[in-house]
Amino acid sequence: MTDPTSKLPPRRDAVRLKNARKLSSSSQRWLQRQLNDPYVTAAKAAGWRSRAAFKLIELDEKYKLIGKGSRVLDLGAAPGGWSQVALERGAAKVVGIDLLEIQPVAGADFIQADFLEEGIEARLTALLGGKADLVLSDMAPNTSGHVATDHIRIMALAETALAFACEILAPDGAFVAKLFQGGAEKDMLNTLKARFRSVKHAKPPASRKDSKEMYVVATGFRPA
Ligand code: SAM
Repeated sequence: MTDPTSKLPPRRDAVRLKNARKLSSSSQRWLQRQLNDPYVTAAKAAGWRSRAAFKLIELDEKYKLIGKGSRVLDLGAAPGGWSQVALERGAAKVVGIDLLEIQPVAGADFIQADFLEEGIEARLTALLGGKADLVLSDMAPNTSGHVATDHIRIMALAETALAFACEILAPDGAFVAKLFQGGAEKDMLNTLKARFRSVKHAKPPASRKDSKEMYVVATGFRPA
């Protein structure tokens, strides 16, 4: 995959925090990392709302996910970086959902709600106005610090996203979902392999090396 930050000017010297004594040490570590992260700088320069935008760019460059004129569902869309990327790369329509409010993006419709709530799938389907070509899930629960609990929560989100993708995808459509290390579990992998021509696990360069996140990328949807 091409590294989008490679086109940037050389990295400046590490920025050190001054006057940060009022922050907790974890906030100081977060701020220090943000200030010295080339993807954060590149996202600001390019007008992307999130550094995560680069993860979708990298996945799209490798797997050619976003078709011209396509319909895209963006699950866990806030603050809107992936929706921006999908539209910029040719999608005609994006529908997103998040627990958090998302500032408008031209070409996208957003719902502020819990994706796991009853009735949400009908609302998303109505807004999309037809089958989806690509279903994205970058949803991540707030981490509890308890590895097993976090794993169960993210798997529940990814599995619900996959079940919905199997309902709403057009033939040959694609599905991308964030998981934690270890990747898809047996049941999910069996469904993916039965319903998609190709199933890969990917860790795009923009995904922090010290993060346990990874993505499952499934292409060539086969309706039942
Ligand atoms: N892809 C986004 C971007 O580029 O701007 C970043 C997504 S962020 C990593 C993950 C998002 O998932 C958070 O905004 C969070 O609120 C959302 N999320 C987590 N659980 C959710 C749920 N049950 N329903 C809807 N959104 C959820």
